Amino acid sequence: MPELPEVEVTCQGVSPHLVDQQVTKLIVRNGSLRWPVPEIAQQIVGQTIRNVRRRAKYLLIDTDAGTTIVHLGMSGSLRILPKTTPPEKHDHIDLEMASGKILRFNDPRRFGAWLWCELPEQAHPLLSKLGPEPLSNAFNLEHLAQALKGKKKAIKLCLMDNHIVVGVGNIYANEALFAAGIHPQTEAGKVDTERLTLLVVEVKQILANAIKQGGTTLKDFTNAEGKPGYFAQKLHVYGRGGETCTQCGHLLSEIKLGQRATVFCSLCQTK
Ligand SMILES: [Zn+2]
Repeated sequence: MPELPEVEVTCQGVSPHLVDQQVTKLIVRNGSLRWPVPEIAQQIVGQTIRNVRRRAKYLLIDTDAGTTIVHLGMSGSLRILPKTTPPEKHDHIDLEMASGKILRFNDPRRFGAWLWCELPEQAHPLLSKLGPEPLSNAFNLEHLAQALKGKKKAIKLCLMDNHIVVGVGNIYANEALFAAGIHPQTEAGKVDTERLTLLVVEVKQILANAIKQGGTTLKDFTNAEGKPGYFAQKLHVYGRGGETCTQCGHLLSEIKLGQRATVFCSLCQTK
């Protein structure tokens, strides 16, 4: 599943081909995504793209008339191609530019989204309640401590809660808790300041590293052969249940927490 780093790298990869371009056509071959692609999404045609940004795991394509909101869902990807490239299976949407290039949206499982928003985008129901970006200064110890105060829910579930901080998916929650030495089931309100400080640092560092790594492995957004894959990273705990801890050699435990695979070291993550 594309996580925040993949969306960020996608944003950086497609942006230079879109910004300042006039949109000539929006072709929707199959609009049955997570929500049906609305007719109003055609409002982008004739507009000039002013900016391409990421908010949480949403890609936002800004024009003077409104913003296209794209979500990659479970299996979506975006590529820049010449408009003459024949569509293949699962190539559901093309956004065509005056330059002759298209932004092509491919999504085999169709859990992604392609929406249109005329409001200031912060007011859109999908975006209005989101917490701070993990890589921004707004995600800091003070914010996290305040958000977790008195919370009895497991720290891992809180870390994955978009109202508290956006874009920390299952992989990164597992990894950040390991790096900070925090047991994933600890009551969120009981994690001490020292560990929370570490957690903020680790979340930022792990995501920043993933983006940096993705920038080198996922840079080709203009390749007609295949599509940009999601990048594999060096992971300490995620997907390693039953294997040995990279830090102490103890066997890693695996449990389900909120239905999500949770892997940790019971010796290294004691807080
Ligand atoms: Zn360990």
